[in-house]
Amino acid sequence: MDLDLVADCGRCSGLCCVAPAFARSADFALDKPAETPCPNLRVAVPGRSDAPCGIHGELLDRGFPGCVAFDCFGAGQRVTADWRDGPGAARAAFDSFAVLRGLHEMLWYLSEPLPELAPALGEEVAAAAARVARLAEEPLAGVDVDTVRGEVGALLGRVSEAVRGPAARGHARADLVGQDLRGGRAARRALTGTTLRGALLMGADLRGVDLGRADLLGADLRGADLRGTGLARVFFLTGPQVSAARGDATTTLPARVRRPAAWSS
Ligand code: SF4
Repeated sequence: MDLDLVADCGRCSGLCCVAPAFARSADFALDKPAETPCPNLRVAVPGRSDAPCGIHGELLDRGFPGCVAFDCFGAGQRVTADWRDGPGAARAAFDSFAVLRGLHEMLWYLSEPLPELAPALGEEVAAAAARVARLAEEPLAGVDVDTVRGEVGALLGRVSEAVRGPAARGHARADLVGQDLRGGRAARRALTGTTLRGALLMGADLRGVDLGRADLLGADLRGADLRGTGLARVFFLTGPQVSAARGDATTTLPARVRRPAAWSS
């Protein structure tokens, strides 16, 4: 597998700022219909914008945390590279983007380096990754992303249990919004190696907590305080999850997750 799974907005035509619809909410400061350029794009041409977001450095302050948390996993620049002007080009690009984003997301999780996987499961993961990568190379029109996502999701669940151990406690989809999770030693231990899949951790205080081998797939970390938090060994974590949180130079991250520039100081 040799796919670029990290978003590069400089090589994208702003597909994520055009294709989806936004509803005015805590995530987006405005309503926007689908397939309509966001007014914050510097050049608002339907289906194409060679300019980046005009408020990129102020997204949180301007009420667009949903944009910070979004990740196309490199699908945007790939669709842009294949773009051919002509009738129906924008429609084709939007359709491809929707499918390819889902496939690239699965590939990100399937390519997580997890040396403790038993050989049998490791081979299964490699086979699933190869299959999804093949789908991403083929004509995308007939790809049923939801079915593939269901199959991959079940496999990733088994991977999570294999890595964390069957006895590891779980907080999957837990509502931990705004909670102080530093607690005492016992409370910290309960978070180490847990599953926080899909957990709501917006604004939670995790300062100084070492999450060990925790599963963070889909955890909402917007505004979470991760200063000094140990994330080096967690898995299924993405760059935008991290960018939407608050960290500093003492926060540790997995090697493949880029450290936000603001966290260096
Ligand atoms: S606010 Fe910026 S990043 Fe968000 S959709 Fe609009 S242009 Fe894109």
